[in-house]
Amino acid sequence: MEKIVSLCKRRGFIFQASEIYGGLNGVWDYGPLGTELKNNLKQYWWKVIVRDRDDVVGLDGSILTHPAVLKASGHVDTFTDPMVDCRTCKARLRADQLAEKNGAKQCPNCGGKDLTEARPFNLMFQTQVGASADPASIAYLRPETAQSIFVQFKNVLDVSRKKLPFGIAQIGKAFRNEINPRNFTFRSREFEQMELEYFCRPEQGMDLLAYWLKERIRFYEEIGINRKRLHILDVPDKDRAFYSKGTFDIEYEFPFGRQELEGVAYRTDYDLRQHIKASGKPLDYFDEETKERFVPHVVEPSAGVDRTVLALICDAYDEDSAPDEKGKMETRIVMRFHPRMAPIKCAVFPLLKNKEALVAKAREVQALLRPHMNVFYDEGGAIGRRYRRQDEIGTPFGVTIDFETLGEKGEELRNTVTLRDRDSMKQERVPMKDLVEIISSKIR
Ligand code: ATP
Repeated sequence: MEKIVSLCKRRGFIFQASEIYGGLNGVWDYGPLGTELKNNLKQYWWKVIVRDRDDVVGLDGSILTHPAVLKASGHVDTFTDPMVDCRTCKARLRADQLAEKNGAKQCPNCGGKDLTEARPFNLMFQTQVGASADPASIAYLRPETAQSIFVQFKNVLDVSRKKLPFGIAQIGKAFRNEINPRNFTFRSREFEQMELEYFCRPEQGMDLLAYWLKERIRFYEEIGINRKRLHILDVPDKDRAFYSKGTFDIEYEFPFGRQELEGVAYRTDYDLRQHIKASGKPLDYFDEETKERFVPHVVEPSAGVDRTVLALICDAYDEDSAPDEKGKMETRIVMRFHPRMAPIKCAVFPLLKNKEALVAKAREVQALLRPHMNVFYDEGGAIGRRYRRQDEIGTPFGVTIDFETLGEKGEELRNTVTLRDRDSMKQERVPMKDLVEIISSKIR
C-alpha cells in the first residue's frame, strides 16, 4: 500500500487536503491525474446508468439539507457508530473495530485496555444556515445522496412522466464525521457517492435486487477491475437494516483487506413512507392501467466514487521489467488502467525536440486526437524515458513521430506513425489518419 500511496502523491493522483498546514484528517484533494480518473469513472457510471437507459433520469440535489429530511430518514436519531475513549492516550476509537487481546479490547494506538463504555456518536456534520445561531437555523451536510432523491420523488415523477419501474440517479458529495478515517481515501470524512434509487412495484423488488447486483458486477468488470478480486457478500439478516429485505455488499480485495465498494439493497417502501409520514405529502404512485394507488418500493445500488477510484488504482498497479536506454533490464512501474478509465489516453512524442519538422508534425497529431480524447504532448528526454513516465500513470497508447513520418525513409511511410501499446510494449506502424478510430474504439 505504501508504494501506491507514494505513487499517488508523486504523480499527482491524490494529495492530502490542506497539506501545507499539516493536513486535515480524513479529507483528500485529487490532483490533475486523479481528477481525470475520477471524472472518467463518474462519466462512465452516468452513461451506463442514465444515458444508455430509457428508465433512469438524473438529479443533482443540494448538499445542505433541512433537518426534517434527516429526522424523517432516521439519520438524526440513529446514524451513529459506537465510540469509546482510551483513558490512557485519550484516543477516540470505533468500538466495533477494536482488536481483542486475551479477551479484552485494546487501544490500537497505545495498547491500553482502560477504555470507556461505548456510546453512540452521530456521524453527521451540523452547520448553521443564515446569520442567527439559534436551533431553528441548524442544517446538515448530507450523509448520503439518496435522501434528496426520495424527497424529490414526486417532482421528478411528474416532470419525467416515467412509469414503474424507473430510477433516479445522482452523483455527488456526502459527508460523515467518521471516528477513525483510515486506509488512505477508503474511509474519508468527505467523499462522493454514485447512487441509484430504482422504484418498482412491491412484487418486483427481489427480482430487481438480483438484476441490479448482476448489472453492478458487470460495471466493475467493464471498468477493468479484476473479477477475481471482487466478492459478493449476502448480508445476513442480523446485519441488515430492519427495513431491508435483502442486501448485497460488493467487496474488493484491497491491499489492507476485503472491504465494501458498494451496497445493493432492497429498501422496500421504507424511505418514501417515512417522508410521507413526516411531511404529510403524497409521495405515492398512481398506476393508470390498474387504477391502483400505492407507495413504490425501491432497490438501491449505492457506490462510493473514492473507494472505486482507490480500487482502480490498486488493481492497476503492477511492476514488470523493461529494457532501459542501453538495453539493460530494469523494473518498470506500470498502471494497467482499462483504456476507458485511463486519465490520459494517448501521449504524443516527436522523436527529437530540436527538429522543427518533427515537432510540427507531432503538434498536428496532437490536434488531430484532441477533440476525441485527453492527449498529452511530451518532447522532453530520451524516448524510452518518456514511455516510462506514461507507463507509470497508465497511458495506454503512445504515438511517436519520426523521420519515416516526414517521408524521409521512403514515400510509402509518409504520414505513418508508431503506435505503442503500454501493456505489451509492442509498436506498430499505422497511418496517421487511422489513429482516431483505432484509439477511440478502445476507450469508448
Ligand atoms: P462502511 O460500512 O464501510 O462505513 P456503509 O455501509 O456505511 O460503509 P453506505 O452507507 O452503504 O456505506 O454507503 C454507500 C457507499 O458509500 C459505500 O459502499 C462506500 O462506497 C461509500 N462510503 C460510505 N462511507 C464512506 C466513507 N467514509 N468514505 C468513502 N466512501 C464511503
